[in-house]
Order: sequence, then C-alpha cells, then structure tokens
Amino acid sequence: MTIGVLALQGDVREHLNALTDSGAQARPVRRTEELDAVDALVIPGGESTTMSNLAVSFGLLDPIRKRIADGMPVYGSCAGMIMLATTVLDGRADQESFAGIEMTVRRNAFGRQVDSFEAPVAIDGIAGGDFHAVFIRAPWVEEIGPAARALGRVTAGPAAGRIVAVQQGNLLATAFHPELTGDLRVHRHFVQMVSSAADDR
Ligand code: GLN
Repeated sequence: MTIGVLALQGDVREHLNALTDSGAQARPVRRTEELDAVDALVIPGGESTTMSNLAVSFGLLDPIRKRIADGMPVYGSCAGMIMLATTVLDGRADQESFAGIEMTVRRNAFGRQVDSFEAPVAIDGIAGGDFHAVFIRAPWVEEIGPAARALGRVTAGPAAGRIVAVQQGNLLATAFHPELTGDLRVHRHFVQMVSSAADDR
C-alpha cells in the first residue's frame, strides 16, 4: 500500500514524514504516471489557487477527479481541504477543485488579521482527547451535503462550534495541519481508511 502526496506546492515533506511515521509507504506525486502508481493521495496545505493552477498545468486535475470517482482514498489538509470541496467561497473566480466532498468551504475564514492560531478540536472516532490544532490562514466549513459527515469541531475559543474536519466515504479533510504538530492520530486514521478501502476491493 503506497500513499502519494501531491507535490505541486505546499508542505509536502511534512506529510511524507507523518505518513512514514504512521507506518505507510509514502512518495511524492507530480506526474500522472506517479498518480497511477499510488493507492491513495494526500493533498497538503499550501495555497489553493496556486495548487489549482499547477494541477491544471501538470495535467493532474481530471486524472485526480477520476481516481476520486473510482474510490481512491484522499486526505486534504487546509489548502487540501479547499481542493476537495465542491464549493469554495472567497476563492478566485477561476479556481478549480477536485470537488470530491459535498461541502462549502470559506477560504481564510477565521479572519485575515489572524494569520495563524491554535485551538482545541474534537474528532469523532479518534480517541485520545482534543487535538491541539494549528490553523494557518485556514478555511472553515460552512455547509455539508447529505453524503458528508462533520467529523471535527473547534471546542473552545472564538471559533467554537466551527466544523473543521469532514469525511465522506473514502475522503477526509481537515482545516488544520496535523502534519506540523507531531500528533499522528489523523494520519493514522487515514492510513486505516486506506487499508479498509484496500480490503473492500
Ligand atoms: N489560505 C490558503 C488557501 O486559500 C490555505 C492555507 C493553508 O493551506 N495553510 O489556499
């Protein structure tokens, strides 16, 4: 089982390390042949408009959409969450996404003056207490469709109650960056999703 990290832009190395530390084989994906060789994909944090441009110019937009439609497990953090959303608010007009999870996300939602902050987040189905979550110019989720499940919410502070983790089938997204904090629980959860998806085949 090999998990790719979309390596067009963003914090690729941190995700590769978190996946390896969670017991998975991980490698960067930049080309369609590399996409074909992985069982699952992580879309890192970074900048979603730039990632959208690069996905188009590297010819990866449609191949990734197709793999998602075929059931490939994907986890997106922050900009990766935006890339997985069907609807993006406060995005650039021509911004593209892989549109896998039925949800509306708002870019830079926590306020432009707060570039980065930390807040506790509870995630359904992940034991061990609240995440000490790091948000960097993060989106939040304003609405989810019937197929999607709100998995995690901020539990305290001004953003309390906001949805910041969502799962829909084999797709997982967080507005925060577990790859930056050394807390491997989200990556382990994803690796588990990838193994179950492989068992189902
Ligand atoms: N604000 C960025 C965007 O809109 C996301 C930030 C991040 O990934 N840390 O793409």
